[in-house]
Amino acid sequence: MNAISLPTVLRDPTLAPALRAIAEKVHRGRRISVAEGLTLYEKAPLGYLGALANHIREAKHGDSTYFNRNFHMEPTNVCLYTCTFCSYSQRIKKREDGWEYGLDDLMDIVKTYDDQPVTEVHIVGGVLPQYDVEFYSELFRRIRAHRPDLHVKALTPVEYHYIFKKAKITYEEGMTLMKEAGLQSMPGGGAEIFHPEIRDQIAGGKCSGEQWLRIHEIWHDLGMRSNATMLYGHIEEFRHRVDHLDKLRELQDKTGGFQTFIPLKFRNQNNEMSHLPESSVVEDLRNYAISRIYLDNFDHVKAYWPMIGRTTAQLSLAFGVDDIDGTIDDTTRIYSMAGAEQHPAMSTEDLVKMIRSVGRHPIERGTLYEVIKDWKDVEFADDNKFRGYTSLPVAR
Ligand code: SF4
Repeated sequence: MNAISLPTVLRDPTLAPALRAIAEKVHRGRRISVAEGLTLYEKAPLGYLGALANHIREAKHGDSTYFNRNFHMEPTNVCLYTCTFCSYSQRIKKREDGWEYGLDDLMDIVKTYDDQPVTEVHIVGGVLPQYDVEFYSELFRRIRAHRPDLHVKALTPVEYHYIFKKAKITYEEGMTLMKEAGLQSMPGGGAEIFHPEIRDQIAGGKCSGEQWLRIHEIWHDLGMRSNATMLYGHIEEFRHRVDHLDKLRELQDKTGGFQTFIPLKFRNQNNEMSHLPESSVVEDLRNYAISRIYLDNFDHVKAYWPMIGRTTAQLSLAFGVDDIDGTIDDTTRIYSMAGAEQHPAMSTEDLVKMIRSVGRHPIERGTLYEVIKDWKDVEFADDNKFRGYTSLPVAR
């Protein structure tokens, strides 16, 4: 699918020696170092990165491109932390403008999906004292009792660190309680940038990078899976990104519990970093590719399409990405306050067509990557209308 293949890159006599050494490592399936990760960020051109990342992506997954059908639920959009990149942090001053749902409200939301083929509920939101260990344990229990086939993927170490500290219990005790209550996996949020030089400036006093990693490690030790993210494109330097990727790779070597890495692009609307420009599409694609190359022990790299837009998400499939975030749902509209897609919903048909139009093979998955449906040859009513549009020239 990519315009340049890895063997073509290796045959280029003008390729810089440092980039040739990295390309040869990738060709032989070997791991790159921290210094080489930095070289990629500082010196590697986009076409070269795409060739390496696509080589790894296709070796792992061929053309398969995964998505799931899920819905997001946010108990509150008010937060007592003050992350500078987050629009939620400003709500605490005008709390009455936000929402703070109770257990019954949240169950009402769950029930609106009763007749829909969603397989996962993704729960994240702000941090407030009333959302404690008891609240979340009860919420997980009620969801599982109401709909046992719905996978509960919920909260991040940001919330867990806060609620366990408040309950005066250890991380081990807390995560065990969550598992018993029905939690099935953890999303990757709250990671931002681990390095304290950056984290201390942007993450508003929430859990440290070490605490984030520790909570995931404990969760993995309980036999459970989770994802990881990195918020990039703000005040961090390339060395902070490589440090972040390296810490994830190191923990993954130890536990093997991460499924997917999701780079998150910093968006600059309605937050305290609005003065910063956003990263370019080229930088977004470079970042996907380098993540794919560096994280050799992660199975999947995901593009969160509501954050980068549909076209960049399509392009990302040629730069190491094999997963596009789910059809958030087929009916509701979740409004983003940070400048991402204003109505981030896509029907299953839209998503399948989006994947097929760049020559990839759409597979609907469950949260743990179990195959639910192969959409490669499924026909839609208006397919004939689109005959001839089978690929995006720009991605070839
Ligand atoms: S990023 Fe999370 S912890 Fe930080 S202010 Fe926003 S909701 Fe709160």
